[in-house]
Amino acid sequence: LQASESCGIIGIFSSRQCSIDIFYGLRALQHRGQESAGIATFHEDSVHRILGPGLVHNAFTRDQVRNLNGARGIGHVRYPTTGGADPRNIQPLVVSSLAGDVALAHNGDIVNSSDLRNELHGKGWSFLSRSDSEIIVRIIIHEMSRSNGDPVLGIQKAMDRLVGSYALVMLVGDRVFTVRDPHGIKPLCLGQLSPFGLVVASESCALDVLGARFLRDVAPGEVLELTAERAVSHSVRASPNTAHCMFEYVYFSRPDSVLDGRSVYKARTEMGRALAREFPVEADVVVPVPDSGRAHALGFSEVSGIPMREGLIKNRYVHRTFIMGESEKRKRAMSLKLTPNRAVIQGKRVVLLDDSIVRGTTMGQIVQMLRKAGAMEVHVRIGSPPILSPCYYGIDMKTRDQFIAKPNQKREAICAKVAKSINANTVGYVTVEGLVRAIGKSEDDMCLGCLARGYPTSVPKERTRKLRGK
Ligand code: 5GP
Ligand code: MG
Repeated sequence: LQASESCGIIGIFSSRQCSIDIFYGLRALQHRGQESAGIATFHEDSVHRILGPGLVHNAFTRDQVRNLNGARGIGHVRYPTTGGADPRNIQPLVVSSLAGDVALAHNGDIVNSSDLRNELHGKGWSFLSRSDSEIIVRIIIHEMSRSNGDPVLGIQKAMDRLVGSYALVMLVGDRVFTVRDPHGIKPLCLGQLSPFGLVVASESCALDVLGARFLRDVAPGEVLELTAERAVSHSVRASPNTAHCMFEYVYFSRPDSVLDGRSVYKARTEMGRALAREFPVEADVVVPVPDSGRAHALGFSEVSGIPMREGLIKNRYVHRTFIMGESEKRKRAMSLKLTPNRAVIQGKRVVLLDDSIVRGTTMGQIVQMLRKAGAMEVHVRIGSPPILSPCYYGIDMKTRDQFIAKPNQKREAICAKVAKSINANTVGYVTVEGLVRAIGKSEDDMCLGCLARGYPTSVPKERTRKLRGK
């Protein structure tokens, strides 16, 4: 099993101690990973690191963060996986090299990592972990050593070999680099810290917490260095078309973030508006599944004219039902996490809005909950099209047989089957066209791999996407 997931990353170049800013930035990125957190800084000729399991504020003690000196640093939050928290997979990774200590934090998934690993094993290399991030850092250092120790050349040469999604922040000795894969699959943006300093982070919400001014997104394929004067763009190797992950807009990113020029919140409300036009229904009340369905529900309510009410109440102290393995445990956790609000639901025809259905377990339980609370009808509306194909770039939907929707069927057939199995009166998913319009980018510039539209990079045994052109 390979260890790598969608995560959150941050990097800072400043003139004063940066560990506290990194700590708060990571807290703003907490939704991107709850399994573990880590911070690495450069101070007095070497990299120092603190790591811990759990949420950012539990992973370190106050003193650990305060005592971590250095004006340059990087941080990482790791997404929880069913495999559990192997301490070897906690990031940032730190290795020593001829160029000094190198630290790396990675968000994404390298598709050809097993090929690279096998090739390097064959050359006598060995690895400390199963993490594809270790392969990245090893290849970069190897290529650096063959390029007179030049980190920029090392990174560029490594990029020629890596296939997949990667947003990186790195310390190479006292230098801070950030890299985004040529398709821009994962988000990454740059901001100005006041009074002095630069910050890069997975999402703009981390910049807001630090009071940083948003400067721009890191360009797909860009190698950027944060320096005392400015952010130096060493090179940009973009693909002709980008492939921004649609699921960042649907679910993964925070609604107050702006990714590649598009507000996540606005995209979500537009998805809800599209749904109301594509799958209208007569009903009394629109109910969001909190929190992931809120913005979609608002858009649906606006267009349909059906009032939105809080028909489900979320216990904000319960987390992590999505990754729980045993279904009995998941069920219990779900009824702890969400409870129906009878005052809103009883005797009503309900339209239930959520961002996505993956396995269908969550929705099945919620529909049952609403019926028990006296809902007369439950119509499910989903802010993304059916998930049909695995994600190879880091989102936690990895095998075909886990999906409740099956490919090669007409839309109506999928809706009817899913409605039956989750006991809903009707089910409607936003169309791919509706989704793409809501995000406001060209279909050719999005990754829609999980919607069975083909993948932006080569993936063994899978179809690459066909660009439609202008
Ligand atoms: P299902 O029960 O259908 O497998 O999961 C769908 C639900 O999980 C939706 O409510 C959606 O908001 C949430 N979800 C979808 N993808 C992810 C993910 O990658 N991580 C987590 N934690 N939740 C997810
Ligand atoms: Mg949800």
